[in-house]
Amino acid sequence: MTIQPSVCPHDCPSACALDVELDAAGRVKRLHGAKEHPHTQGIICAKVARYTELVYHERRLTTPLKRIGAKGEGKFAAIGWDEALDEVAERFRQAAERFGPETVWPYQYAGTMGLVMRNSIERLRNVMGYSNQLFTICSTVGGAGWLAGVGSKLGTDMREIAQSDLIVIWGTNVVATQIQVMTFVTQAKRQRGAKLVVIDPYRNATAQKADIHLMLRPGTDGALAAAVMHVLLKEGLADRDYLAKFTDFGPDVAAHFEARTPAWAAEITGLSVEEIVSFARLYGGTKRSYLRLGFGFTRQRNGAVATHAVSCLPAVTGAWQVEGGGALINDSDCFRQLKKSLLTGEDAARRGVRTLDMSRIGAVLTGDRRDIGNGPPVTAMLIQNTNPMVVAPDSKRVRAGFLRDDLFVCVHEQRMSETALMADIVLPATTFLEHDDLYASYGTSFLQVAKAVIAPQGEARSNHEVIRALAQRLGARHPGFDMTGWELIDATLARSAFPGAEELARRRWIDLAPDFETAHFLKGFGHSDGRFRFKPDWGDATLPVFPDHAPLIDEPDHEHPFRLVTAPAHSFLNSSFNETPSSRKAEGAPVAMVHPADLDRLNLADGATLRIGNKQGSLLVAARAFDGVQRGVVIVEGLWANADFEEGAGINLLTSADVIPPVGGAPFHDTKVWLRTAYRDG
Ligand code: SF4
Repeated sequence: MTIQPSVCPHDCPSACALDVELDAAGRVKRLHGAKEHPHTQGIICAKVARYTELVYHERRLTTPLKRIGAKGEGKFAAIGWDEALDEVAERFRQAAERFGPETVWPYQYAGTMGLVMRNSIERLRNVMGYSNQLFTICSTVGGAGWLAGVGSKLGTDMREIAQSDLIVIWGTNVVATQIQVMTFVTQAKRQRGAKLVVIDPYRNATAQKADIHLMLRPGTDGALAAAVMHVLLKEGLADRDYLAKFTDFGPDVAAHFEARTPAWAAEITGLSVEEIVSFARLYGGTKRSYLRLGFGFTRQRNGAVATHAVSCLPAVTGAWQVEGGGALINDSDCFRQLKKSLLTGEDAARRGVRTLDMSRIGAVLTGDRRDIGNGPPVTAMLIQNTNPMVVAPDSKRVRAGFLRDDLFVCVHEQRMSETALMADIVLPATTFLEHDDLYASYGTSFLQVAKAVIAPQGEARSNHEVIRALAQRLGARHPGFDMTGWELIDATLARSAFPGAEELARRRWIDLAPDFETAHFLKGFGHSDGRFRFKPDWGDATLPVFPDHAPLIDEPDHEHPFRLVTAPAHSFLNSSFNETPSSRKAEGAPVAMVHPADLDRLNLADGATLRIGNKQGSLLVAARAFDGVQRGVVIVEGLWANADFEEGAGINLLTSADVIPPVGGAPFHDTKVWLRTAYRDG
């Protein structure tokens, strides 16, 4: 048995340092968290620990494929790499000749967070002048709300949770999505008797571990935050000196909060006045209070406003001033020193190229002029690191787009995903254990590098290799295309004044955490005047002037009396693990969690199949009686494959691709629906 170092590439804030166990034959056996890594501390999630299921999956793609049946039918023939790459390049060339380069839309997201494998496609995009992508599907809304107040993507290092007396986890199920937060919470509880408060619309695994769970209605977080600030100000729990020194707080802001009473918020959130007041007193009475904001509560039409409102809390109490106090949503500015142009080709970007919103892929592919503007239709795509047939909203429209006969699609994937099934050419991709890469993070401050620990399975090739081969065929020139992945890492590190690739590999990680004063904004917040903003600049968007509840959400009505939240399942990560045997066994099957009283009213039994729908469509799913939600709320955890639902349509059939102000994003947890006794179409 040998152990090789690596780094988890998945879309998770932790970017865990890994010890990969190999057997005598060089096959991967199990993955472990690196014990000496200050954030990982030897603990990783079960789905990645059992990564062998993914590496050696029976549906792992091992050779390039060409479609020989109808689109989506799943009939492919194996072909050679040269034939496959020649065809992709030729189809891109033909498309660009007919419509101009913007007709080609390279499409990617965070299936791997490795900087080389994620950004090579950007280099091709930039050099060729292909359509740009607006990356809105995950963190954009939360980022906009946070930046509106704080002004930079920094915050209190998560290791400081261990020094906190009160940890508030707001809108994220970290037991499922970032287990290391709970490591630090456990340390704080053991060492200091810290309290844990979880604010979330349902009693998920994290809420089950909380001392207090505030189970509010989805999309009402801004109201709760505003009412908490009302209490803090009214009861002398605000730090007036801090407010005067570090923020734009003034009499107008104070006057605004006078009307944001706990009774007002109780009406909106469904919480009791007592719950709101006692939480406010606990928060205001605990200086070492750590607020971990998640992205879950941001996936609402009012998500940016709500994020901003929540981010105001430590500015009112002055919790930023002490160790273990403050807040965090995203730490990615720790990596500002990285000069990424060799990876991304941003230095070669052409002016005036249109940008298409990735969350609006259904609208884009069906030719919605609001999305494609006066430019050409998208007629050619290369897709890496994402599975839009499952993960994108408004999936009926996404499917209609992919079915277009005049659209050429190449998907580079590890398994035959439902997006790959719609492709003309499918290329087999390496897993992170089969290629070299460089890793930053959006939840920790560690820069890490990892070398391949096993050879590529079958004929799989890395993203970077595929992009290099296409660039060569398309005549794309950039220094990044002339380097191996390892050379790119080394050159990027050198440009960024970091140790070289071999040195970083030897050290495994470098901690780029800013000093205490910077992370706690004691030298000023990210805005030019250094002040936290209670009065954000929302640009052209018409959004509340002060921290507030914005009544923009998809409110239930007579026809649609329920609100649907599509939260992440414990054993999946978007759609990445929804085919691995242990994850599927742990999750069972898709279910709709509904309050027992609502099931009674609908005459539905626990376990019965129900139909859930709205104006976009409907689907069948088993009902589970669950009293860990308010009445009128439905939770469907995922993301299950579309094929896992009886009629082949997954939960994103129901979610909207409406654009969240001010800068975009998809309202995945903001959907009014009806529930009915099951009837089967046809
Ligand atoms: S906790 Fe997150 S970073 Fe760590 S192994 Fe699991 S998915 Fe990867």
